[in-house]
Amino acid sequence: MEKQIISKLLNWYEISKRDLPWRLLQKDNLPNPYYVFVSEYMLQQTTVSTVKTRFEEFIKVWPTLKDLAKTTEPKILKFWSGLGYYSRARNILKAAKIIDKNFNCKVPDQYEDLISLPGIGDYTAKAILGIGYNQSVMPLDANIERIFARLYAFNKPLIKIKKQLSNKADLYLSKKNSSNLIQSFMDYGSLICTPRNPNCSICKIQKYCLGYEKKMQNIIPIKIKKQKLKPKKYTRAYVLINEKEEILVRKRPSKGMLASMLEVPNDLWVEKKNLLKKDDLIKKINQKFHRKETLLYSFSHFDLNTDIFYLKVVRKNFPQQKWLNVSKFANSQLPTVMKKIVEKSLMN
Ligand code: SF4
Repeated sequence: MEKQIISKLLNWYEISKRDLPWRLLQKDNLPNPYYVFVSEYMLQQTTVSTVKTRFEEFIKVWPTLKDLAKTTEPKILKFWSGLGYYSRARNILKAAKIIDKNFNCKVPDQYEDLISLPGIGDYTAKAILGIGYNQSVMPLDANIERIFARLYAFNKPLIKIKKQLSNKADLYLSKKNSSNLIQSFMDYGSLICTPRNPNCSICKIQKYCLGYEKKMQNIIPIKIKKQKLKPKKYTRAYVLINEKEEILVRKRPSKGMLASMLEVPNDLWVEKKNLLKKDDLIKKINQKFHRKETLLYSFSHFDLNTDIFYLKVVRKNFPQQKWLNVSKFANSQLPTVMKKIVEKSLMN
């Protein structure tokens, strides 16, 4: 049955594949491994539709791995604005520098080499090997796991059946067509065997699908009950603006959330509001701040509740500080949460 599924999916892929910029085929009929490498970093935690445009912009700025390896962290962090999960930007840059130095500027084609790079785990390593180098592997992303779970009617949450899924993945290793097969599974999960309401009526592999036979296609993958509420953190942010319409900014600590990025002054983020302690710089200011809005911003693991304060100041009273012109903050290196704080503070 697996052989038939592979052949049906490859045929379907030939005519129905998604047009994605990182799939551009080279002379060897495979996508450029550097493109696959970049797209896989971007696709961690971000949807294909968002990545599509940002990928093209990325390749315009850094067309080759050599170009990327030469860039700096502030430049890539600025580019990454809006994509979130900034650790990916730092990791792709570190990885590019390592590849430039240790692998002759060629994206490695060995699992052990790839997995040793920052930000590359089992899935990404296999995606690069399979899609970029046509090696016989099967990376298990959410689409592929869902298709396997339905095909074999696994009626437990995906997180509890990792071993079974990986055993099934071994039945779908292709020596000749690995790149296309992996991408056909990915596209099939995105276009036909979708997370909700799969299109079983037009499915090419319906007759092999145990989930469909048992009428379980709409409940597989089984959901994990009771999602925990995200914890909350609290802070206060202070937007200081001078007579030249500049905002006081500074660099965040080199470790922790949004490490080394720009910020407006804000109190240490705490789990209870009554634990808030005024930032050292703000303590020294003897003027009354105006209370603006509150911003609720959602990070992956917690929500940040920020009370925003605003104050007009005189630049010469802050000789050591860095300033950012108001007209430039939208395109600056401020991370999205800080941009939103500034935005709210400027509203009447
Ligand atoms: S029959 Fe339905 S559930 Fe089964 S593989 Fe096809 S689309 Fe997915």
